[in-house]
Amino acid sequence: MLHSPRVVTIRREMHELVDIGANLTHDSFDDDRREMLARAAAAGVARLVVTGTSVTSSVQASALAEAHVGVLFATAGVHPHHASEFDTHTAAALRTLVGNVACVAVGECGLDFFRDYSPRDAQREAFAAQLELAAACGKPVFLHQRDAHEEFVAMLKPTRAALAGGVAHCFTGGPAELEAYLDLDLYIGVTGWVCDERRGADLRATLPRIPLERLLVETDAPYLLPRDLEPKPRGRRNEPAYLAHIVERIAALRSESVDIVSRATTTNAERLFRLPARS
Ligand SMILES: [Zn+2]
Repeated sequence: MLHSPRVVTIRREMHELVDIGANLTHDSFDDDRREMLARAAAAGVARLVVTGTSVTSSVQASALAEAHVGVLFATAGVHPHHASEFDTHTAAALRTLVGNVACVAVGECGLDFFRDYSPRDAQREAFAAQLELAAACGKPVFLHQRDAHEEFVAMLKPTRAALAGGVAHCFTGGPAELEAYLDLDLYIGVTGWVCDERRGADLRATLPRIPLERLLVETDAPYLLPRDLEPKPRGRRNEPAYLAHIVERIAALRSESVDIVSRATTTNAERLFRLPARS
């Protein structure tokens, strides 16, 4: 497939960004991964956390991070969609992966009762095992939740004190969900969902209520292409270079400057994932 991504140039008031959720091992990047990373850097996305969603993709994410020290970091985990694959070998493989310096979080893990690609019992078990792993290794959790809010919160609550923090990635909820996550002292990851006036209406209304010191930004590339990019890129593939556009939208919806939002979200990412200082 041919992509013709927009060239995004950095705005002067934009502080360097951290994309905390990018699925860079996805095969849609196989033909131009290097160029895609160069476009991200040119657009001010200085560091990225590569999402692991299965043992295979977590191994790839860590390898990619090790090949781009200081720029790419990885998570290691099993997405609820893949929970039925989770067994004792999985647990052992993840335990090894989270020992890597390049691995900064356990996940993505959680519950997804919207798709139900894996049976719910398998999802619960995989999630519980990863919460336990996160508590044991002292790294934060990268969390996914869809249509399972109450059970998700009920599972997190008793383990929360033992965890080194976490982020509710791709937050799309309303004020009640936000309150529950803030009560758990989680960070809130916002994607290009915010650029969708229709589907993102709840999120857009809730966005100003997210405390600045809890806000993180992510593309979830290659998914969730911002709907309002002008001109529209050919193809539906999202990429990290578009994070700057998402941050501009977030700043406008929160009535804050791009400078403030970019600085705060980068500091928050450094704090949660304990990213090393930039040289
Ligand atoms: Zn997710």
